[in-house]
Amino acid sequence: MEWRVPLSDIDLGEEEIQAVTGVLKSKWLTMGEVTQRFEQAFAKYLGVRHAFAVSNATVALHLANAVLGIGPGDEVIVPSLTFVATANAVKYTGAKPVFADISSDFDLDISPEAIAAAITPATKAITVMHYGGYPCDMAAINDIARQHGLVVIEDAAHAPGTELDGKKAGTFGDIGCFSFFSNKNLATGEGGMIVTDRDDLAEKIRLMRSHGMTTLTWDRYKGHAYSYDVVTLGYNYRIDEMRAALGLVQLSKLERNNARRAEITGRYWEAFAPTSLTLPFHHSRGVSAFHIFPIILPQGVNRIAFIGNLRAKGVQTSIHYPPVHQFSYYREQYPGIKLPITEDVAGREVTLPLYPTMSDEQVDVVIASVLSALDEK
Ligand SMILES: *Cc1c(COP(=O)(O)O)cnc(C)c1O
Repeated sequence: MEWRVPLSDIDLGEEEIQAVTGVLKSKWLTMGEVTQRFEQAFAKYLGVRHAFAVSNATVALHLANAVLGIGPGDEVIVPSLTFVATANAVKYTGAKPVFADISSDFDLDISPEAIAAAITPATKAITVMHYGGYPCDMAAINDIARQHGLVVIEDAAHAPGTELDGKKAGTFGDIGCFSFFSNKNLATGEGGMIVTDRDDLAEKIRLMRSHGMTTLTWDRYKGHAYSYDVVTLGYNYRIDEMRAALGLVQLSKLERNNARRAEITGRYWEAFAPTSLTLPFHHSRGVSAFHIFPIILPQGVNRIAFIGNLRAKGVQTSIHYPPVHQFSYYREQYPGIKLPITEDVAGREVTLPLYPTMSDEQVDVVIASVLSALDEK
């Protein structure tokens, strides 16, 4: 079906085509000089000491848990209102994700109070996720972590460019993880970045990203090394030069594109403020990356009918998220678990189209369609 307004779209043009073509012509396709430039540019943009480009954010999250020494017998507190990878990354290490509720139907980020209540002697880490690019309450969360000797991982997949108190998301905790999947604010198809200010963790990430090997093919090609040792169990979580080239161009557009996302979000907020909708994060803390635009339907409105109504008008929507603890795989492992606010919000949330190349006319179509769908409820 041809959507009049799709849920998302990428700002991709001649510059990206040139950048990728340049890599192909160079015939050096695996991690090398372009990846190094992408990592340096990303680290500089965030104001962080170390950034490592990886295959995707899921492996970034796995590496984060792994290099922090999380394993069997440990617990990691995570939100359930997130993409499943946030919790899966904990499971990969043999540790147990412990789900904590969100704050409210206005603040969809993990609740500091719920985190504090979920801490046990087995707790090792807290993973937060900046929902929609709206920063979590990092001062409160870092305080709790400090009091209990826990480490903090940020799933910043929604949040490249998000800022709070003059600091970028991904740099508040011990490790930050970013996704460059094609529907994210900075898109390379598949791809991700793992960032940290801690030199000890950086060294472990460098090794574990590439088989625990002490040198890269690139180093050997450049004549910096002729052999290697394997000093730990590692993985192949590398990115490639085509994606790094795409990422460099996309990074240069990020601020402009996030600003356009902010503008569209402002128009939505203005149009929907007088309605019965709850508008999460409306004028809340920090500067968002405005990754998605969530609305919460009033109690009693039939969400399937509402979505069908928008669909009939050519407007694509989505749901962020079916809660992780309610998926079959997880439900069986957590009998009797209740996260009342997450469950309530997940039953009433609808995500509206939001992307930088969206025209003002398309924004008008979405607004008119939502207002009329609310009337017809
Ligand atoms: C997209 C996303 C991920 C996973 O990213 P990939 O790069 O596709 O592995 C993880 N967490 C959240 C919150 C996401 O939105």
